[in-house]
Amino acid sequence: MNLYGGQVNKLIEELEGLPGIGSKSAQRLAFHLIGLPEEKVNRIATTMMEARKNVRYCAQCCTLTDKELCPVCANKNRDHSTIMVVESPRDLAAYEKTGRYEGVYHVLHGAISPMLGIGPNDIRLKELIKRLEGDVNEVIIATNSSLEGETTAMYISKLIKPTGIKVTRIASGVPVGGDLEYIDEVTLYRALEGRTEI
Ligand code: ZN
Repeated sequence: MNLYGGQVNKLIEELEGLPGIGSKSAQRLAFHLIGLPEEKVNRIATTMMEARKNVRYCAQCCTLTDKELCPVCANKNRDHSTIMVVESPRDLAAYEKTGRYEGVYHVLHGAISPMLGIGPNDIRLKELIKRLEGDVNEVIIATNSSLEGETTAMYISKLIKPTGIKVTRIASGVPVGGDLEYIDEVTLYRALEGRTEI
């Protein structure tokens, strides 16, 4: 239904394509944007384009960053011999919010899912294995407790075991199927503290 003319509809349609934005939110956002001063809209558009252009994977942990190394990997005070494996940069952010993890991370950008046809080569697993050639004492697997997360944890554990590096899994205090991002910091920290060797 073309209520507002092509340009407005086009903007609404583009916004509707974003995750978590339904048609009502898209309309609200579109009207908000149209009502903003032109320089503000320019700034938003430029920020989006620059982020898209400059953001890449950290050369070490594969999280998103605009530098060669992300701030965690670049920090010499972190314990680089402990690697926590997470599914997404959002999970990394959730653990960083606890402020109590001193190791570094590895971001897989997904999880193994035979049902969706996502195999080990479709996530950043090769990069993790490469890192194990360095000085690594422990790999903490903090993938989600969904079926995919558990499958991935098992797969990684089997892969690492022969190297003799300690492999642990965060405690099941994290609700099944829970998205790490939505779990409070205390629960996350407890899950980390209560990790067990697998
Ligand atoms: Zn990094």
